[in-house]
Amino acid sequence: MSLTEIDLHQQLKKYFGFSQFKGLQEQVITSIVKGKDTFVVMPTGGGKSLCYQLPALIADGTAIVVSPLIALMKNQVDAIRGISSEHGVAHVLNSSLNKTEVRQVKEDISNGITKLLYVAPESLTKEDYVEFLRGQTISFLAIDEAHCISEWGHDFRPEYRNLRSIIKRIGDNIPIIALTATATPKVQEDILKNLGITDAKTFKASFNRPNLYYEVRPKTKNVDADIIRFVKQNEGKSGIIYCLSRKKVEELAQTLQVNGISAVPYHAGLEAKTRSRHQDMFLMEDIDVVVATIAFGMGIDKPDVRFVIHHDIPKSIESYYQETGRAGRDGGEGHCLAFYSYKDIEKLEKFMSGKPVAEQEIGHALLQEIVAYAETSISRRKFILHYFGEEFDQETGEGGTMDDNVRYPKKQVEAEEEVIL
Ligand code: ADP
Ligand code: MG
Repeated sequence: MSLTEIDLHQQLKKYFGFSQFKGLQEQVITSIVKGKDTFVVMPTGGGKSLCYQLPALIADGTAIVVSPLIALMKNQVDAIRGISSEHGVAHVLNSSLNKTEVRQVKEDISNGITKLLYVAPESLTKEDYVEFLRGQTISFLAIDEAHCISEWGHDFRPEYRNLRSIIKRIGDNIPIIALTATATPKVQEDILKNLGITDAKTFKASFNRPNLYYEVRPKTKNVDADIIRFVKQNEGKSGIIYCLSRKKVEELAQTLQVNGISAVPYHAGLEAKTRSRHQDMFLMEDIDVVVATIAFGMGIDKPDVRFVIHHDIPKSIESYYQETGRAGRDGGEGHCLAFYSYKDIEKLEKFMSGKPVAEQEIGHALLQEIVAYAETSISRRKFILHYFGEEFDQETGEGGTMDDNVRYPKKQVEAEEEVIL
């Protein structure tokens, strides 16, 4: 495949209707088109999907896309089908398909119609699929949410660790592109090591989200009322409110409803049907607010989430960054408000007490970082970016004034109780 720069822009316009590449997209795509193993570290909302979708659409053969969630794959397949006249251009291969459907998918791949094949890692272990794919033209293999490979990541999935051997069986020289929004060096190392990639072209984007406003408020017994007030001041806007427990999710969703706010709960304890209905209601804007545990969010592509509130402080800066990253994906306003009390930290510590010592140690270290974030009086953006190994100058950097500490320097946020070290 040889493509000039103009071609790529034309293809971008043709398939996606965009006239500009975002961030490093063009360089990433060029690397893939050249058949190089490629590693992409870009924050949530950075536009990682397009990095493999566009080269897949213009390449010969089928690109295999490994992705952890069925809902996420379905969203993407629907979107791709929406931009192509050929229904079979994108398929999902998973256990929910019946024989006829599987036959159709295979036929479309064999006929060169299918450009993107989405699979869950566990489906790729099926002998029948591996056997079939081995005989096909595979353009490259994309591993989305590649941090799932690493035990150091926030979402480790054991199935991801077998990918290397499976890829080898499907084909010897299939280029690999791994993508993640996890910026910590440990996770990145793990990904490349596990995939056996030694000379990847690595593209790392800045993790600065200049349009997000970061704020921490002390958490008092009036926190629910504070949240209601905030939501009412932002009437009609979409928002996510994260709580630690399912019980609190239910309670707070109800409290909001009673106060005339259109909100639904979302957590893993709800029936799958209810969960997907609530998710759809949020995406379709039948409701404004989702009150959720961390079960909600991965792969949710709602561009205009205007606020993310944390009723409880999360267990790491990494988690906080991921969860707040769901705000303002369209580049518009995104208010990230966390309520903080040291009591919640103690609660999180207690949750870990039954775990292996090594895990507790990691957990404790991560918690100390989030405490430091909540209690800092320096620029919150600077603090977060520093955690990810980035230098940020709030005088000149984009979004430098977009947090409470910079805007209201005198206001000190402190834990409700004294911190005893
Ligand atoms: P990520 O996977 O990195 O979190 P996505 O691939 O879901 O991000 O993309 C985030 C948003 O950015 C999507 O709404 C997508 O349509 C949009 N997007 C991607 N590339 C471009 C581009 N070149 N121009 C404008 N919008 C883009
Ligand atoms: Mg993504």
